[in-house]
Amino acid sequence: MVSLEKFYENVKVGFDKEEFKPKVRPLLDDVIMRLPDELQFQTEGEIFFASKSRVIENLQALEFPDHIISQWMGDNREGQCITEFGQNGEINSYYISIITNHFLLVSEEYIMGLIIHELAHMSYYWNLLVNEKPRFAKLGSKAKTILLHQIVGTNQEVESDEYYEKEKYVNAEAKRLGFEKEIDALES
Ligand SMILES: [Zn+2]
Repeated sequence: MVSLEKFYENVKVGFDKEEFKPKVRPLLDDVIMRLPDELQFQTEGEIFFASKSRVIENLQALEFPDHIISQWMGDNREGQCITEFGQNGEINSYYISIITNHFLLVSEEYIMGLIIHELAHMSYYWNLLVNEKPRFAKLGSKAKTILLHQIVGTNQEVESDEYYEKEKYVNAEAKRLGFEKEIDALES
């Protein structure tokens, strides 16, 4: 169990409109409280619920690189987790965007599935990296970047085999965290 108070000390939550807040905020709280008390959930982060156009505007305003923003163009993406890595394979922070465009049409379980899927992206990377710190420590900065890409992938592929393969691992991670039903709702 993760305490809400502790989690929100490190994670900021935003909505572009008040409209969805009464419905979505309790679902988010529910996901957080059900998380196992693992270290990755003490990472600094931000979760933003908004229309797709506001999500894109926001990412541009925050000056995220083009390849991250372009992941939103022309596909059916409903969420994104941008993970910021440190020099030694640590995760410094994460930034989750979830679009609300279809929120009137989908079930609560589906919305919780979206939330846990994006959190599982970060958690999946965390687990891949957690035992690799000694390997990073020995390397120069260019080699560290190469090693990071070897471990977590390049994070640039949209609708590629690598992307879909990673999505499978991320959903498996979400299920490991205890959200099998919600991932099934997301995938059905
Ligand atoms: Zn994903």
